[in-house]
Amino acid sequence: MNRKTFISGASLLTGGVFAGGLEAAGGSRKEKPLLTLAHITDVHIRPGDNAPQRFKACLKRIKKTGVDFFLNTGDAIHDASYDNVKRESVTEQWQLWDDCIQEIKDYDLYSCLGNHDMWWAAPDKKDAMYGKDYVVKRLKIPHRYYSFTRDGWHFIVLDGNNHNISLDDEQFKWLEDDLAATPANTPTLVMSHYPTFGATPILVGGNHSDHKKLKGLFYKHKDKIRASLSGHNHLYDKTSYNGVWYCCNGAMSGFWWGQGDKDSAGPGYYLETPPGYAILKLYKNGGFESEYIAHGF
Ligand SMILES: [Zn+2]
Repeated sequence: MNRKTFISGASLLTGGVFAGGLEAAGGSRKEKPLLTLAHITDVHIRPGDNAPQRFKACLKRIKKTGVDFFLNTGDAIHDASYDNVKRESVTEQWQLWDDCIQEIKDYDLYSCLGNHDMWWAAPDKKDAMYGKDYVVKRLKIPHRYYSFTRDGWHFIVLDGNNHNISLDDEQFKWLEDDLAATPANTPTLVMSHYPTFGATPILVGGNHSDHKKLKGLFYKHKDKIRASLSGHNHLYDKTSYNGVWYCCNGAMSGFWWGQGDKDSAGPGYYLETPPGYAILKLYKNGGFESEYIAHGF
Protein backbone atom coordinates (compact mmCIF):
# COMPACT_ATOMS: atom_id res chain seq x y z
CA MET A 1 0.00 0.00 0.00
CA ASN A 2 1.43 3.38 -0.85
CA ARG A 3 1.59 6.17 1.67
CA LYS A 4 -1.39 8.09 0.37
CA THR A 5 -3.65 5.06 0.46
CA PHE A 6 -2.42 4.17 3.89
CA ILE A 7 -3.15 7.59 5.33
CA SER A 8 -6.62 7.76 3.93
CA GLY A 9 -7.20 4.17 5.09
CA ALA A 10 -6.07 5.09 8.57
CA SER A 11 -8.28 8.15 8.50
CA LEU A 12 -11.33 6.03 7.93
CA LEU A 13 -10.46 3.73 10.78
CA THR A 14 -9.10 5.98 13.44
CA GLY A 15 -9.63 9.60 12.66
CA GLY A 16 -6.27 9.64 11.04
CA VAL A 17 -2.77 10.80 11.29
CA PHE A 18 -2.28 12.85 14.39
CA ALA A 19 -2.38 16.56 13.63
CA GLY A 20 1.03 17.91 12.74
CA GLY A 21 2.43 14.40 12.68
CA LEU A 22 4.32 14.55 9.43
CA GLU A 23 7.42 16.58 8.89
CA ALA A 24 10.35 15.84 6.69
CA ALA A 25 13.97 16.48 7.45
CA GLY A 26 15.85 16.35 4.21
CA GLY A 27 13.99 13.43 2.67
CA SER A 28 12.40 13.85 -0.71
CA ARG A 29 8.84 12.57 -0.84
CA LYS A 30 9.41 11.24 -4.35
CA GLU A 31 12.40 9.24 -3.29
CA LYS A 32 11.75 5.76 -1.96
CA PRO A 33 12.82 5.34 1.68
CA LEU A 34 15.60 2.86 2.38
CA LEU A 35 13.73 1.73 5.45
CA THR A 36 10.17 2.10 6.72
CA LEU A 37 9.98 1.34 10.43
CA ALA A 38 7.38 1.18 13.15
CA HIS A 39 8.23 2.89 16.42
CA ILE A 40 6.23 1.56 19.35
CA THR A 41 6.74 2.59 22.94
CA ASP A 42 5.20 2.31 26.41
CA VAL A 43 3.10 -0.72 25.58
CA HIS A 44 2.68 -1.46 29.31
CA ILE A 45 1.09 -4.80 28.55
CA ARG A 46 -1.06 -6.28 31.29
CA PRO A 47 -4.17 -8.38 31.71
CA GLY A 48 -7.46 -6.50 31.77
CA ASP A 49 -9.12 -3.85 29.62
CA ASN A 50 -8.52 -6.16 26.65
CA ALA A 51 -5.03 -4.68 26.46
CA PRO A 52 -3.43 -7.74 24.80
CA GLN A 53 -6.15 -7.99 22.15
CA ARG A 54 -5.96 -4.25 21.43
CA PHE A 55 -2.15 -4.34 21.16
CA LYS A 56 -2.29 -7.35 18.84
CA ALA A 57 -4.92 -5.67 16.65
CA CYS A 58 -2.66 -2.64 16.35
CA LEU A 59 0.37 -4.77 15.42
CA LYS A 60 -1.74 -6.49 12.79
CA ARG A 61 -2.59 -3.11 11.28
CA ILE A 62 1.05 -1.93 11.36
CA LYS A 63 2.10 -5.07 9.46
CA LYS A 64 -0.30 -4.12 6.68
CA THR A 65 1.55 -0.82 6.18
CA GLY A 66 4.63 -2.75 5.09
CA VAL A 67 7.31 -1.95 7.65
CA ASP A 68 10.81 -3.44 7.54
CA PHE A 69 11.18 -3.88 11.29
CA PHE A 70 10.10 -2.55 14.68
CA LEU A 71 11.72 -0.28 17.26
CA ASN A 72 10.47 -0.35 20.85
CA THR A 73 11.65 2.30 23.31
CA GLY A 74 10.64 0.43 26.45
CA ASP A 75 8.08 -0.04 29.19
CA ALA A 76 7.03 -3.20 27.40
CA ILE A 77 5.20 -4.46 30.47
CA HIS A 78 2.78 -2.66 32.76
CA ASP A 79 5.10 -2.55 35.72
CA ALA A 80 7.64 -4.66 37.57
CA SER A 81 9.36 -1.76 39.30
CA TYR A 82 7.11 -0.93 42.24
CA ASP A 83 7.94 -2.26 45.71
CA ASN A 84 4.99 -4.60 46.08
CA VAL A 85 5.21 -6.47 42.75
CA LYS A 86 5.18 -10.24 43.12
CA ARG A 87 7.11 -12.71 40.99
CA GLU A 88 3.89 -14.21 39.56
CA SER A 89 2.82 -10.84 38.25
CA VAL A 90 6.19 -10.16 36.57
CA THR A 91 6.08 -13.59 34.94
CA GLU A 92 2.51 -13.11 33.80
CA GLN A 93 3.25 -9.72 32.25
CA TRP A 94 6.27 -11.04 30.30
CA GLN A 95 4.24 -14.02 29.13
CA LEU A 96 1.63 -11.63 27.79
CA TRP A 97 4.38 -9.66 26.04
CA ASP A 98 5.71 -12.85 24.43
CA ASP A 99 2.25 -13.83 23.34
CA CYS A 100 1.46 -10.43 21.80
CA ILE A 101 4.70 -10.06 19.88
CA GLN A 102 4.12 -13.46 18.31
CA GLU A 103 2.01 -11.32 16.01
CA ILE A 104 5.26 -9.83 14.61
CA LYS A 105 7.42 -12.93 14.87
CA ASP A 106 8.48 -12.53 11.24
CA TYR A 107 9.97 -9.08 11.94
CA ASP A 108 13.04 -7.96 13.80
CA LEU A 109 12.25 -6.04 16.97
CA TYR A 110 14.91 -3.85 18.63
CA SER A 111 14.05 -2.80 22.17
CA CYS A 112 15.26 -0.46 24.92
CA LEU A 113 14.91 -1.01 28.65
CA GLY A 114 12.16 1.12 30.20
CA ASN A 115 11.95 2.07 33.87
CA HIS A 116 8.88 -0.13 34.45
CA ASP A 117 10.50 -3.26 32.96
CA MET A 118 12.89 -4.10 35.80
CA TRP A 119 11.92 -6.09 38.90
CA TRP A 120 13.95 -4.48 41.67
CA ALA A 121 11.86 -6.05 44.46
CA ALA A 122 13.17 -9.56 43.80
CA PRO A 123 14.00 -11.26 47.12
CA ASP A 124 17.68 -11.36 46.27
CA LYS A 125 19.97 -9.52 43.85
CA LYS A 126 21.18 -12.92 42.71
CA ASP A 127 17.62 -13.88 41.75
CA ALA A 128 17.46 -14.74 38.03
CA MET A 129 14.60 -12.26 37.58
CA TYR A 130 16.23 -9.32 39.38
CA GLY A 131 17.08 -6.11 37.55
CA LYS A 132 18.28 -5.42 34.03
CA ASP A 133 19.88 -8.73 33.00
CA TYR A 134 16.52 -10.48 33.13
CA VAL A 135 14.85 -7.78 31.01
CA VAL A 136 17.69 -7.99 28.46
CA LYS A 137 16.91 -11.70 28.24
CA ARG A 138 13.13 -11.22 27.97
CA LEU A 139 13.48 -8.55 25.29
CA LYS A 140 15.97 -10.78 23.44
CA ILE A 141 18.49 -7.95 23.08
CA PRO A 142 22.28 -8.42 23.16
CA HIS A 143 23.02 -6.05 26.07
CA ARG A 144 21.40 -3.19 28.02
CA TYR A 145 22.90 -0.87 25.35
CA TYR A 146 24.00 -1.88 21.86
CA SER A 147 24.20 -0.75 18.26
CA PHE A 148 23.60 -2.22 14.84
CA THR A 149 23.56 -1.19 11.19
CA ARG A 150 20.82 -1.81 8.64
CA ASP A 151 20.73 -0.65 5.01
CA GLY A 152 23.37 2.02 5.54
CA TRP A 153 21.74 3.48 8.69
CA HIS A 154 23.37 3.07 12.08
CA PHE A 155 21.17 2.52 15.15
CA ILE A 156 22.25 3.11 18.74
CA VAL A 157 20.14 1.81 21.61
CA LEU A 158 20.81 3.39 25.01
CA ASP A 159 19.99 2.51 28.59
CA GLY A 160 19.08 5.69 30.47
CA ASN A 161 18.02 3.77 33.59
CA ASN A 162 20.89 5.05 35.70
CA HIS A 163 21.37 7.77 38.31
CA ASN A 164 18.94 10.61 37.67
CA ILE A 165 18.18 9.35 34.10
CA SER A 166 21.59 9.30 32.50
CA LEU A 167 24.21 7.17 30.85
CA ASP A 168 26.67 5.67 33.31
CA ASP A 169 30.36 6.44 32.59
CA GLU A 170 31.01 3.05 31.04
CA GLN A 171 28.10 3.46 28.65
CA PHE A 172 28.97 7.05 27.72
CA LYS A 173 32.51 5.95 26.85
CA TRP A 174 31.08 3.13 24.76
CA LEU A 175 28.81 5.62 22.97
CA GLU A 176 31.76 7.92 22.22
CA ASP A 177 33.73 4.97 20.84
CA ASP A 178 30.78 3.64 18.85
CA LEU A 179 30.21 7.01 17.17
CA ALA A 180 33.94 7.50 16.54
CA ALA A 181 34.08 4.07 14.86
CA THR A 182 31.04 4.85 12.67
CA PRO A 183 32.21 6.06 9.24
CA ALA A 184 31.74 9.79 8.50
CA ASN A 185 28.31 10.77 7.14
CA THR A 186 26.62 7.52 8.18
CA PRO A 187 23.04 8.49 9.05
CA THR A 188 22.46 7.47 12.66
CA LEU A 189 19.35 7.07 14.80
CA VAL A 190 19.69 7.01 18.58
CA MET A 191 17.00 5.56 20.83
CA SER A 192 16.50 5.72 24.58
CA HIS A 193 13.44 5.17 26.74
CA TYR A 194 13.73 8.77 27.95
CA PRO A 195 13.87 11.89 25.79
CA THR A 196 17.40 13.23 25.31
CA PHE A 197 15.92 16.63 24.41
CA GLY A 198 12.57 18.01 23.33
CA ALA A 199 9.40 19.85 24.20
CA THR A 200 7.48 17.40 26.39
CA PRO A 201 10.12 17.36 29.19
CA ILE A 202 9.35 21.05 29.76
CA LEU A 203 5.79 19.98 30.49
CA VAL A 204 6.25 16.75 32.43
CA GLY A 205 9.99 16.19 32.99
CA GLY A 206 11.45 12.78 32.24
CA ASN A 207 14.42 14.03 30.24
CA HIS A 208 17.95 12.65 30.36
CA SER A 209 19.77 14.70 33.04
CA ASP A 210 22.95 14.38 30.93
CA HIS A 211 21.26 16.02 27.95
CA LYS A 212 23.93 18.73 27.60
CA LYS A 213 26.66 16.12 27.43
CA LEU A 214 24.66 14.16 24.84
CA LYS A 215 23.88 17.29 22.83
CA GLY A 216 27.60 18.07 22.75
CA LEU A 217 28.48 14.57 21.57
CA PHE A 218 25.72 14.63 18.95
CA TYR A 219 27.04 17.98 17.69
CA LYS A 220 30.55 16.56 17.45
CA HIS A 221 29.03 13.89 15.17
CA LYS A 222 26.60 16.17 13.39
CA ASP A 223 27.48 14.51 10.09
CA LYS A 224 25.93 11.31 11.50
CA ILE A 225 23.20 11.84 14.11
CA ARG A 226 19.86 12.43 12.38
CA ALA A 227 17.28 11.44 14.98
CA SER A 228 16.86 10.69 18.67
CA LEU A 229 13.75 8.63 19.47
CA SER A 230 12.12 8.14 22.84
CA GLY A 231 8.96 7.44 24.78
CA HIS A 232 8.44 7.48 28.56
CA ASN A 233 6.32 10.65 28.62
CA HIS A 234 3.32 9.10 26.81
CA LEU A 235 3.27 12.36 24.86
CA TYR A 236 4.01 13.17 21.27
CA ASP A 237 6.44 15.89 20.26
CA LYS A 238 9.00 16.56 17.60
CA THR A 239 11.80 19.04 18.07
CA SER A 240 14.60 19.88 15.67
CA TYR A 241 17.87 21.15 17.06
CA ASN A 242 21.29 21.26 15.40
CA GLY A 243 20.02 19.09 12.56
CA VAL A 244 18.73 16.30 14.82
CA TRP A 245 15.04 15.36 15.03
CA TYR A 246 14.15 14.62 18.63
CA CYS A 247 10.96 12.56 18.53
CA CYS A 248 9.20 11.54 21.69
CA ASN A 249 6.25 9.50 20.54
CA GLY A 250 3.02 8.79 22.38
CA ALA A 251 2.33 5.50 24.11
CA MET A 252 0.82 2.42 22.51
CA SER A 253 -1.09 2.17 25.81
CA GLY A 254 -2.09 5.87 25.85
CA PHE A 255 -3.43 6.34 29.37
CA TRP A 256 -2.10 2.88 30.35
CA TRP A 257 -5.00 1.27 28.43
CA GLY A 258 -7.47 3.12 30.66
CA GLN A 259 -10.10 5.71 29.82
CA GLY A 260 -8.05 8.69 30.97
CA ASP A 261 -8.74 11.36 33.53
CA LYS A 262 -10.02 14.94 33.67
CA ASP A 263 -6.92 16.15 31.82
CA SER A 264 -7.32 13.68 28.94
CA ALA A 265 -8.32 15.40 25.69
CA GLY A 266 -10.12 12.24 24.53
CA PRO A 267 -10.80 8.64 25.56
CA GLY A 268 -7.55 6.88 26.43
CA TYR A 269 -5.45 10.01 25.86
CA TYR A 270 -2.64 11.10 28.12
CA LEU A 271 -3.14 14.88 28.18
CA GLU A 272 -3.50 15.76 24.49
CA THR A 273 -1.81 12.66 23.04
CA PRO A 274 -3.93 9.72 21.87
CA PRO A 275 -2.71 6.12 22.07
CA GLY A 276 -0.65 5.43 18.97
CA TYR A 277 2.60 4.55 17.27
CA ALA A 278 4.87 6.19 14.71
CA ILE A 279 5.89 5.23 11.20
CA LEU A 280 9.43 6.31 10.37
CA LYS A 281 10.90 6.72 6.92
CA LEU A 282 14.67 6.67 6.58
CA TYR A 283 16.29 7.87 3.39
CA LYS A 284 19.64 7.30 1.75
CA ASN A 285 20.77 10.91 2.14
CA GLY A 286 20.01 10.89 5.88
CA GLY A 287 16.49 12.23 5.40
CA PHE A 288 14.15 11.27 8.22
CA GLU A 289 10.37 11.42 8.53
CA SER A 290 8.27 10.49 11.52
CA GLU A 291 4.52 10.33 11.47
CA TYR A 292 2.51 9.73 14.65
CA ILE A 293 -0.65 7.72 14.13
CA ALA A 294 -3.51 7.40 16.61
CA HIS A 295 -4.50 3.73 16.62
CA GLY A 296 -7.99 3.96 18.03
CA PHE A 297 -8.08 0.43 19.49
ZN1 LIG B 1 5.59 4.38 30.22
